[in-house]
Amino acid sequence: MVRRLLVLLIISLLVACAEQSAGPRLAVRYIANCGYLIETEHKAVIIDGFLAPLERDFYFKPTDSVANLMREALPPFDRIDLALFTHVHDDHFNAAVTARHLLSNPRAHVVGPPQIDSALSLTAQYADIRDRIHIVPAPGDSVVTLSINGISVRALPSKHSSYIDEDTVTFEKFDRHGGIGHLEYIVAMDGRTFYHSGDADLLDFERYQSFGFGDTTIDAAFVDSWDERPRITFTQKLIHDVIRPERIFMIHMSPSRPPQGRPDTQTFVAREVYLPESLMQRWVLE
Ligand SMILES: [Zn+2]
Repeated sequence: MVRRLLVLLIISLLVACAEQSAGPRLAVRYIANCGYLIETEHKAVIIDGFLAPLERDFYFKPTDSVANLMREALPPFDRIDLALFTHVHDDHFNAAVTARHLLSNPRAHVVGPPQIDSALSLTAQYADIRDRIHIVPAPGDSVVTLSINGISVRALPSKHSSYIDEDTVTFEKFDRHGGIGHLEYIVAMDGRTFYHSGDADLLDFERYQSFGFGDTTIDAAFVDSWDERPRITFTQKLIHDVIRPERIFMIHMSPSRPPQGRPDTQTFVAREVYLPESLMQRWVLE
């Protein structure tokens, strides 16, 4: 009897070990627009990826069936520890999909600026999920560091890129995005570190230098797509000189604005540059 119990114990330990090491060393999956699912051996983070299959052509969105996998926390969305959102715009976040995922996946937590919580508070699931929503004040003066499910998150309060419009009555110029709380993220898990810019403009060298980029290797940076130019742009130089990522994954893919030229050949910015060619495309990296 004791021997049988011992055998059972060893088998269950082996199964537990196999389950623990089920993940890849580093895998990146393109969801849509700026959304990516990043997996390491023991952790999985989705950033700006819980989107609705809305009818828009200025950004890529998930199909109905993919959105359903998100809601139900089915593969490949079944091992998510953390969902990060840079801001509340609907090409980066959908409250209904996020709330349903949190209900389906009791392990998942959310980090975002206050407007994310306001939107989630209107969902039917809010009472059941609110304990797992972590709000970072934005805009704020200082970087906020969180540790959730063994994942280290540095949330960088920042400004959404400007969209200057003119008031139709006063003719005064104003920034349509001025009131949008926005966070960039530096995330570390299983010894891997990545950065996501969301809709921030990467133009302020000193600001990015103050975040301590360069102290650690950035395995992957999720940054804006850019057109192929004959010379390096200011943003490309900032990414190369300050953020210094090993790899770049392009964000802001749009059916109506395909990238010009071949940004994926621009290895003068990073050693590897990835340009998604299809939704749900996955790369397994060393
Ligand atoms: Zn935006």
